[in-house]
Amino acid sequence: MRQVYADNAATTAVSPHVLEVMLPYFGEFYGNPSSLHSFGQKAAAAMEDAKKTMAACLGCDPRELYVTAGGTESDNWAVVNAVRLGEKKGKKHLITTRFEHHALLHTVEEMEKQGCEVTWLDVHEDGLVRMDELEKAIRPDTALVSVMYANNEIGTVQPVAEIGRLCREKGVLFHTDATQAAGHLHIDVEEQCIDMLSLSAHKFHGPKGVGLFYCRRTVALYNMIFGGGQERGKRPGTESPALIVGMATALKDACDAMAEDMPKVAALRDKLIAGLSLIPRSRLNGHPTRRLPGNVNFAFEGVEGESLLLNLDMKGIAASSGSACTSGSLDPSHVLLSIGLPHEVAHGSLRLSLSHYTTEEDVDYILQETPPVVAYLRDISPVWERLMQEEQA
Ligand SMILES: *Cc1c(COP(=O)(O)O)cnc(C)c1O
Repeated sequence: MRQVYADNAATTAVSPHVLEVMLPYFGEFYGNPSSLHSFGQKAAAAMEDAKKTMAACLGCDPRELYVTAGGTESDNWAVVNAVRLGEKKGKKHLITTRFEHHALLHTVEEMEKQGCEVTWLDVHEDGLVRMDELEKAIRPDTALVSVMYANNEIGTVQPVAEIGRLCREKGVLFHTDATQAAGHLHIDVEEQCIDMLSLSAHKFHGPKGVGLFYCRRTVALYNMIFGGGQERGKRPGTESPALIVGMATALKDACDAMAEDMPKVAALRDKLIAGLSLIPRSRLNGHPTRRLPGNVNFAFEGVEGESLLLNLDMKGIAASSGSACTSGSLDPSHVLLSIGLPHEVAHGSLRLSLSHYTTEEDVDYILQETPPVVAYLRDISPVWERLMQEEQA
C-alpha cells in the first residue's frame, strides 16, 4: 500500500542532508562548546557559524538569536519578556488573536490571570486580522502585539509587514510566531519591523527539540531560566551543537530552495483543493489564496474528523483533524471556532499539509482515496441522514 505523509504542519522528516551534517556532532565532535580544549572549540566554532547562517536567513545579527527548545519555549519567552518590560512602564495590555497556537494562547491566558488585560483580535471568516481593528485596539498602555505569521491549522498568512510597520509607528512591541512560516515564506525582521520572533527546526526538515528566539537588540531581554553563560547568559545550559548545526542547515536549505520549491508545493496544494472541492457539501477553511503553500484544510458536513483521519490512516494516508496538540481531546479546534465554524462543522475538519517531498502521485492517491471514505462515513452517519432529510423537506 502507498504511504503518503500529509501531516507536515505537525512535523517534517529530517532531510538526509541535515542528518548527515548533524551526525559528526554525536560522534567525533562531542566536546562541550564551553570547554577551552580543541574538542570544545570545534563544537563552539560550528555553533557560531550556524548562528551566522541563520541570522543571514532572517535578516538579523547573530547576536540577536537565542537557541531554545522550540516554538513553544520561544513563544513563552516573548510574551513573558514583553509583560515584564511593560510592568516597568505601567503597561499591562496585550493584543493577540483568537487563533494562535496553544504555546502563545495559553501563555497569554496565564498573563491574563496574573493581571494583564488582553484584547483578542477577531480573525474573521477568512482567518485574517483586520488592520483597522488592530489599530483601534492599540492603547498607550499596550505592552505587546503578538500575531502569528501563518496559522498551523488553516494556513492563513497574516500581513506581517503591515502589522510590524503599524506597531513601529505606535511604539508597541511586535512579536510573531513564525513557526509555520520559517523556511516556507520570506522572513526579514528588518523589512517586516519584527521585534521578536519564534521558530522551530522540526517544521522545516530540521531536528525536533530545537528552535530560535529572535529578540531585537534594542529590546531588553529577561531570562526565563538561570545558570551559566551559554546564549550570552540569557538561556543557559550546555548547548547541543548537533541540533543547532542541524537547524541552521535545514533553515539555509529551505531558504535557498524556497523560490523554486514553494510554487511547486502550492501547485500541488491547489490541485488537492480543487479535487476535494468536488465532494458535495465540503468547504475549504481559511483564505483561498493567502495561505501556506502546503496547507489544505477542509470540512465535510456530516463527517467526524477523527473517523476520517483513522480511515485515511488505514489507506496509508497520514493527515490531521486539527492541531496535533488537541488530538486526543474531543473539543473542536479553537482555530476553526475562531473563524466562525459551528461546532458540528469544526468537528468534521481534515488538514492535509504537504512538503517539498510530496509528489503529484501522492496528491492523486489522496484524491482517489478520500471521496469514498467520506461517502462511507456519511452512509453510517446519523448527522448526514438528518441533513439529507432536511434537504428533501
Ligand atoms: C509547532 C508549532 C509551535 C510549537 O513548536 P514546538 O517546537 O513543537 O514547541 C508553535 N507555534 C506554531 C504555529 C506551531 O506550528
